[in-house]
Amino acid sequence: MGLPIELTYLAASILFILGLKGLSHPETARRGMIFAEIGMLLAIVGTLFHRDIISYEWIVAGLIIGSIIGGAISIWVPMTAMPQRTALSHAFGALAASLVGVSEYYRHGADISTFKMGALSFEVLLGGITVTGSLMAFIKLQDWIRGTPITYRGQNILNLLLLGVTISMFFYLFFAPSAHLVFYAMAGLAFVFGVLLVLPIGAADMPVVMSLMNSYAGLAAAATGFAISNNVLIIAGTLDGFSGFILSVLMCRAMNRSITNVLFGAFGAEIEVTLSGSLGEMREVKAEDVAVQLAYANQVIFVPGYGMATAQAQHAVRELATMLEARGVTVKYAIHPVAGRMPGHMNVLLAEANVPYSSLYDLEQINPEFPATDVAVVIGANDVVNPDARDNPKSAIAGMPILEVDKARTVVVLKRGKGKGFAGIENPLFFKPNCGMLYGDAKASLIKLAEAVQNA
Ligand code: NAP
Repeated sequence: MGLPIELTYLAASILFILGLKGLSHPETARRGMIFAEIGMLLAIVGTLFHRDIISYEWIVAGLIIGSIIGGAISIWVPMTAMPQRTALSHAFGALAASLVGVSEYYRHGADISTFKMGALSFEVLLGGITVTGSLMAFIKLQDWIRGTPITYRGQNILNLLLLGVTISMFFYLFFAPSAHLVFYAMAGLAFVFGVLLVLPIGAADMPVVMSLMNSYAGLAAAATGFAISNNVLIIAGTLDGFSGFILSVLMCRAMNRSITNVLFGAFGAEIEVTLSGSLGEMREVKAEDVAVQLAYANQVIFVPGYGMATAQAQHAVRELATMLEARGVTVKYAIHPVAGRMPGHMNVLLAEANVPYSSLYDLEQINPEFPATDVAVVIGANDVVNPDARDNPKSAIAGMPILEVDKARTVVVLKRGKGKGFAGIENPLFFKPNCGMLYGDAKASLIKLAEAVQNA
């Protein structure tokens, strides 16, 4: 590979690192994305000048088809389906890595060094698991099969056995690279293992699974880089691999779970209500009454959740907040790390509505503030404000850190009806004496509240 290409790759790698750095803070995230996009463009353009390219027809065809699919996805897939979209992207990325691995093996066969054989096998193994694992995640999130864990007797043992056999093949190939059958059998088993790995995992744990898959796809790409001596792939793949892994660990921490519990715990299989005693009745409130409480409050905390995303209510929240602030009310936003359906979901939506970043507070910062808050307005959130996670050790979400809205003087919950949250369990918050339910689509309710505040 020539020096100009290597220099282009070096520039691309630096841009990827700057991109990741930018993504670590919402204020610099947009700039970070632009750096990463330019980096990717440089990496692609640099590769197009590679001397090993024989003809450009297939490349151009791939570029056109890929751009059409990518463009269509970016235009038509709604924000609420972002997890599914990400799952598909991981599947395609990993498929590309696996195919490169298979084609390299096909071209060079047994005629390769032990190191290269190891890199190729690693790439195909992780790539295969990621392709079918991500497709399963997509199918579950899309509700094409039931999202709850699909379990059967001896499942973990079968999975571990299969993994053991696949890894044994991986090591065998170090010593016998010419064993074609073993190579292709290992690739096949990796595809099967991806399906079996994700089957027992509930849809509620899919974000963790997906960032793990992200990590695998990254590591497969890094291995591809070693196999075909491509530095930018090694660097980008490693960045992707480790950032995905760190994100998985952070999400597990936000749900108070371990990664092994997510992968082997079949969380969400039993979603019956584990509360003892009757919960009583939910109390419905009127927008006019809530508006008076809001207008004369000292402090109001908005708690957005998945329902705000589906209702696209972020602009309406911002407008109501501006009105309250004009009346001297202190307004804060409480952001739970797994509110919505993807990490940072609420931050992205609120940033789109120009809510200043300084008004967003994370869990540790905001929880001590609830007892001194007049009104906590829960906008389409459910699991992340479920006090059962704190109070009921038998709850399916026991131990998950929550936003303690129940400690506010008054809580108003904006939701359409009595629908459950993602974990599929009842929420005792809605039955508490200080909690009122304002039924309706979140956006419509917020608009109604803003009108009523104006008249209050
Ligand atoms: P949630 O528990 O899914 O609850 C959302 C609530 O919004 C529902 O109870 C629903 O009740 C209401 N809703 C839906 N559409 C609405 C609309 N148009 N207007 C008003 N309300 C609406 O949401 P969450 O509290 O944000 O919790 C997130 C959950 O998703 C957690 O369990 C988390 O572990 C999981 N998860 C998170 C991620 C992530 O990375 N952030 C990814 C996947 C899963 P009604 O039907 O009665 O309206």
